[in-house]
Amino acid sequence: TVVVRRRMRSTGKWAKAAEIVRELEEQCATPLGRLRQVADAMAVEMHAGLASDGGSKLKMLISYVDNLPTGNETGLFYALDLGGTNFRVLRVQLGGKDKRVIKQEAEEVSIPPHLMVGTSDDLFDFIAAELAKFVALEGDNFHLPVDRQRELGFTFSFPVKQSSIASGSLIKWTKGFKIDGTVGEDVVAELTKAMERQNLDMRVTALVNDTIGTLAGGRYYDNDVVAAVILGTGTNAAYVERAQAIPKWHGLLPKSGDMVINMEWGNFRSSHLPVTEYDQALDLESLNPGEQIFEKLISGMYLGDILRRILLKLAEEAALFGDTVPPKLKEQFILRTPVMSAMHHDTTPDLRVVGNKLKEIFDINNTSLKVRKMVVKLCDIITKRGARLAAAGIVGILKKQGRDTLRYGDKQRTVIAMDGGLFEHYTIFSKTLVRTIEELLGEEVASTVFIEHANDGSGIGAALLAASHSQYLGLEEP
Ligand code: BGC
Ligand code: MG
Repeated sequence: TVVVRRRMRSTGKWAKAAEIVRELEEQCATPLGRLRQVADAMAVEMHAGLASDGGSKLKMLISYVDNLPTGNETGLFYALDLGGTNFRVLRVQLGGKDKRVIKQEAEEVSIPPHLMVGTSDDLFDFIAAELAKFVALEGDNFHLPVDRQRELGFTFSFPVKQSSIASGSLIKWTKGFKIDGTVGEDVVAELTKAMERQNLDMRVTALVNDTIGTLAGGRYYDNDVVAAVILGTGTNAAYVERAQAIPKWHGLLPKSGDMVINMEWGNFRSSHLPVTEYDQALDLESLNPGEQIFEKLISGMYLGDILRRILLKLAEEAALFGDTVPPKLKEQFILRTPVMSAMHHDTTPDLRVVGNKLKEIFDINNTSLKVRKMVVKLCDIITKRGARLAAAGIVGILKKQGRDTLRYGDKQRTVIAMDGGLFEHYTIFSKTLVRTIEELLGEEVASTVFIEHANDGSGIGAALLAASHSQYLGLEEP
């Protein structure tokens, strides 16, 4: 009888687990019809956000970038990129049309986690100190004319309401950041004060979102770049809009006729989005409940934690990992997306990588192949939902730009500059994304759309924009 009872229990357990997975799969489904609704809703919200401030969940922020790099930029410029888990400093010597980037040096520093939830001064002091160290190492092979101040493009990857190309106040923190006292402040002023405290004589001549930097960096190498998308810790998009199509823009009409818009699409939401109980719980327990809903379905900061929540449910309700629930399954963000990606891409026949990661992260031992297969399936459901939603978002932008049809003729190339660790490293994610764009656009239109990986485009892009907004523009070298 003991044997019989055990077998029944285990059958019941599997039935329960299968039911949970089936429900999840249903709730995460993204058939083309639904994705079309998401793309349409994105285009509608873009219009609303351009019409007035507060007109939409999509902020559609004006970047004050009305000219993208041409290739003629020259001189020594610095860039600083703050926004994900790392921050980067960069210096570049620009040589103009033929020489382009003559030399470039960069350094990446990871941000001590306590600074992401500490005080504004502590964060900016840390950044300015690292920047000062980097500047001190500038070699003779970089050239700054005498008596000139060093200039910096500041990539700040959070929503900012700009008041000019080189100033703007923080609207809210996103991703893992939550720092008192910065919201509403001019982040350029904050950085400038911190640089002064370091005795670093440097001027910020461009403040840009990472999407804007990536767009600028992409355009430097390819004239047909008209949008940029970041898929990393967070997610967002920027694109080139006609200034005349921005009712809320009351400034002068730029000569170019264009204005680059930082969409802040991470904050998009719509009744068409496939949201589950796990997403709702994740949102509620996050640093920013009710905010960045699209981002929480798609980006690298969250995918791993969605998976963890489902594993926890399976442990609690279907005893998937034995009679007791492994305690580490309850730890928020303990499962990072790169680990999830490693499990998802496991090609060993017995899914050894999955087994090892479960052990390493959660102290879960001796899983059966059946359990490990289920974990891979969960990775697949979550990741494909995210990638397909991102694809729908991109198609929404193309719709807004009138590039989702061949109305411009088949000679028209549409290039989207992409960056971010999720896109770069999570192969199944990026392949799904590209394939879904093709499905949505159809073969003919899709053949005019190109996704280009702009590796650290945002750093070089910020430096280029610092150059094209230099205080010395038009002046001869002294
Ligand atoms: C921020 C955006 C940023 C994106 C990608 C989001 O959380 O709100 O400003 O572009 O992450 O870094
Ligand atoms: Mg980045």
